[in-house]
Amino acid sequence: MLNLVLIFMKQVKLLECLCYNSSSFNSEDPAVLKYEIVPVTAFEQNCSVIWCTETKKAAVVDPGGDLEKIKLALKKHSLTLEKIILTHAHIDHAGGTADLAEQSKVPIEGPHKDDKFWIDGLPQQSQMFGFPLARTFTPDRWLVDADEVTVGNLTLKVIHCPGHTPGHVVFYHADTKLAIVGDVIFNGSIGRTDFPKGDYNTLIASIKNKLWPLGNDVMFIPGHGPMSNFGDERKFNAFVAD
Ligand SMILES: [Zn+2]
Ligand SMILES: [Zn+2]
Repeated sequence: MLNLVLIFMKQVKLLECLCYNSSSFNSEDPAVLKYEIVPVTAFEQNCSVIWCTETKKAAVVDPGGDLEKIKLALKKHSLTLEKIILTHAHIDHAGGTADLAEQSKVPIEGPHKDDKFWIDGLPQQSQMFGFPLARTFTPDRWLVDADEVTVGNLTLKVIHCPGHTPGHVVFYHADTKLAIVGDVIFNGSIGRTDFPKGDYNTLIASIKNKLWPLGNDVMFIPGHGPMSNFGDERKFNAFVAD
């Protein structure tokens, strides 16, 4: 009997050693980022819920509307909403921001201040596109290039990518090699540039000079449609292919 106990304890010890040394259990590993895409509004905008697996703290990226769907995703994963972060202030991305911030008592970070005119125009945007009335808001923090945004123990880098809107930012998590790019680039296309203060050449420069250097293996969640990676877009996206 004693022998059996000793063998068992030896195995436990071995397992402990294996766990301690394995990358997934090393306490010095960075927290892991997980995400769920929640399509919202009539424009099927890819709102993303991203969270830190260590703390279960979450951020909602681009709550365009359909807040009940977003809240359901938070609940499903037992997450605590920590903040709202915005890529840009078009109605389908930012329309639900004021309500969600108020209801959940969380701060709003982003976009870049150059999108303030879009935030101020949210009520008119909602009328124009037949959306429920969207209220304006003042972000608790405007973002600039190279800023960092935290979610639980995760840190995302802010990359200012004007062109679709002047204050558009991209959020990049280096450990996961995941970028949340809003309407800068899509799988096979790029953002529109025919809105006020949009600019085609600026958008192309943002993509090539700011996003490509992150690496071909970077996956991205676009504001609309399926995910892709920068390497595939450099090959197949007619707007920005090498
Ligand atoms: Zn947009
Ligand atoms: Zn959009």
